[in-house]
Amino acid sequence: MVHVGIGYDVHALVAGRPLFLGGVEIPHTHGLDGHSDADALLHAITDAVLGAIGDVDIGHLFPNTDPAWRNAPSRIFVEEAARRVRAMGGRIVNIDASLVAERPKIYPYIGQMKECIAAALGIPASKVGVKATTNERLGFVGRQEGIAAMAVASVDLPEPPAAALA
Ligand code: MG
Repeated sequence: MVHVGIGYDVHALVAGRPLFLGGVEIPHTHGLDGHSDADALLHAITDAVLGAIGDVDIGHLFPNTDPAWRNAPSRIFVEEAARRVRAMGGRIVNIDASLVAERPKIYPYIGQMKECIAAALGIPASKVGVKATTNERLGFVGRQEGIAAMAVASVDLPEPPAAALA
């Protein structure tokens, strides 16, 4: 049975931090602020996968009060979500995600992002969608104060035996 999950994340843009999106470091004047590497795209994907299997969210699994995750590569979070799917006997069918960023231009990095995300999830890159749009200069994204990401995941999970449903 295919289950779907949704994920959303925002991080603020600040000077003096590298910009990581989809596991790829992108040259830019600003980077995303956060406890880990603040990769909003990988965080949204992690929550989408966790949501599809009815698990707790990324903030519960990897609290930003835990020094272990300071500047951690967010690939770790994606890998853990995928591991939890496999532990349930499940299979990630596909991922789709959108980045909302005024700058920098994301398109040149999309292919690399798909490869990184697919490798972290253990699925082919053909099963990963990543798009990018601006926010038409509106709101906090439009003012380049932050970057938002949203993602959906579909996960094929084995049906529990009928007795387990009773
Ligand atoms: Mg986050």
